[in-house]
Amino acid sequence: MIDRQARDLPLDAHLHTDLSPDSDVPIDVFAQQAYERGIAELAITDHVDFEPGAPAYRRTTHAQRERVVRDAAERWADRGVAIRFGVELTYDRTWEADVRDHLARHAYDFTIGSVHDRVASPYARSRVAAWVDGRPLREIVAPMFDEVEAAARSGMFDAIGHIDVVKRYLHPYVTAADLAAAPELYEPILRALVDSGSALEINTSGLRHRVAETYPSPAIVECYRAMGGRAVTVGSDGHRAAQFAWGLADGYAAATTAGFETLAFRRGDDRVSIGLPAAEPNALAGHSL
Ligand SMILES: [Zn+2]
Ligand SMILES: [Zn+2]
Repeated sequence: MIDRQARDLPLDAHLHTDLSPDSDVPIDVFAQQAYERGIAELAITDHVDFEPGAPAYRRTTHAQRERVVRDAAERWADRGVAIRFGVELTYDRTWEADVRDHLARHAYDFTIGSVHDRVASPYARSRVAAWVDGRPLREIVAPMFDEVEAAARSGMFDAIGHIDVVKRYLHPYVTAADLAAAPELYEPILRALVDSGSALEINTSGLRHRVAETYPSPAIVECYRAMGGRAVTVGSDGHRAAQFAWGLADGYAAATTAGFETLAFRRGDDRVSIGLPAAEPNALAGHSL
């Protein structure tokens, strides 16, 4: 992989440390890279799951995660790296009450609500081909898109993560191009985001996956803006040291190209708008947007 780890950007709003079951990165490894690369602020967004059997179900406590993140924030503050205590909560309508209860009892700086592959998902490797076979695209994506729309409409989250990560699960049976040809499938999700005010996350992890584009694509970010969307965030969703800030410049470019001038973020009680740096054509050369 060519090095697409970004430099000199104000925020990476989606990162997983070794407090997530699918990451092996100690928090200081991310902080050190942020320091060296000039990424001013990080949201540590380790997983919290609510479905028994899911990887992050009751794996860590809120107190444990908060202590690790707050301690690191203290260690790195005087080097100019701001570390925020965030979370990525796995959403599904089945356990929406549990998510609401969790958020009522636990404070975070910043929250992402995401829909992930369920334990008994039709998108599992062993089932996805049969799921896709003979179904129209709308029905293929419905199990995930319907939940993402509900997450967006719930208004519980600061941001909704990787709204079309289903692209990853469906590849290669349904391609990113197939979804790009059906932007109307995204409209209910984008409408729910506009109505609730939750931010659309531009998740750059897709640039590392075979789909080779952000979740969602820059074209969908533009649709959201055209529909009245005013809040975006950008995160690398890094789970490995080398994934820190990976593709982040592309995510920023997608936001800027769509007409956004700021990122929507929260630092506990403070909702903030973080200015997007002006697009630098040279930094984007060779990247398909
Ligand atoms: Zn996720
Ligand atoms: Zn994540």
